[in-house]
Amino acid sequence: GEGYDGARKKVGNTHYVGNASEVASHYNSRPEVGVQHREFSPIIGLKKFNNWIKSVLIGKFAWRGHGAGAKVLDIGCGKGGDLNKWRQARISLYVGMDIAATSVEQARGRFETMNRPGFDAYFFAHDCYSLPISDILPDQLKVRDLYDNVTMQFCMHYAFESPSKARMMIENVSRYLSTGGKFIGTIPDGEILLSRLNALPEDDTELKFGNSCYFIQFEERIHKGIYGHKYRFYLEDAVDDVPEYVVNWDNFVSLALEYRLRLVYRKSFNEVLQEEQSSRDFGPLLGRMKVINEAGESAMDEDQWEAANLYMAFAFEKF
Ligand code: SAM
Repeated sequence: GEGYDGARKKVGNTHYVGNASEVASHYNSRPEVGVQHREFSPIIGLKKFNNWIKSVLIGKFAWRGHGAGAKVLDIGCGKGGDLNKWRQARISLYVGMDIAATSVEQARGRFETMNRPGFDAYFFAHDCYSLPISDILPDQLKVRDLYDNVTMQFCMHYAFESPSKARMMIENVSRYLSTGGKFIGTIPDGEILLSRLNALPEDDTELKFGNSCYFIQFEERIHKGIYGHKYRFYLEDAVDDVPEYVVNWDNFVSLALEYRLRLVYRKSFNEVLQEEQSSRDFGPLLGRMKVINEAGESAMDEDQWEAANLYMAFAFEKF
């Protein structure tokens, strides 16, 4: 079949569908360590590289519809780690949503301590894969064509548990995005994950691969259907063992098309680096964001680089 929706669970005042409560409680429980402490993360090089990739996407596709600063909807905004990147893009409005209420409070806190952000921001705790975002947005934030950009960074794949979640997700993305507006995101590349899985010896039953900084473990070698192909993901100092789902790329592209979203960009993180490392706009950012040091050496070790290359970046345009 095409996967299922699972049971509904109620935690506090929030109803969760399927695995959503597990995902939320994981992200809620991660401590906010602050920018200073983050420098001591064992995967700091990888975190910086991921931030550079997001800055490149924002720089390339942040779109201003009408002369004024762009209006941005960040779905799965987490602790608001991209607020500064959007400030650089001189936006006028930022709306952040995430299922993890504690993370949303931290994002709000981060905005409140920003010095002259130059834009308005609103934050909402919401399960954006099970419920329409119109349920929680106030009237002035749910206006047709309001947003110039919708961004989903490292979070869209959680929606591929079931067809109904994937549809609700993409419906939420498209609903208030303006014509010509851009939908940008980063996800693990499903084809890479499956080819790594298929490369395991035939008699392997653990269905696990990785290195010193991450592992991925599947439950099934062959999965029937497009949705719900589950694996557990562990990334040192970032994600401990959360359930995630393979994104079938062709299916995602045709689903997006149903919601008037046309693919304009798809690159592996490695390709983004190759293409942009010497560009005038993003090359110098590699040093400024400390992805590379003064000697031009990467802050990532081999194992972090392998983890980084499981991911890809994409952009769609609303028509
Ligand atoms: N976008 C942020 C970033 O780039 O730092 C956070 C990425 S974090 C790896 C994934 C985020 O997706 C978590 O904050 C998690 O709570 C959020 N998420 C997962 N399922 C969600 C859902 N159903 N609705 C909204 N957010 C969700």
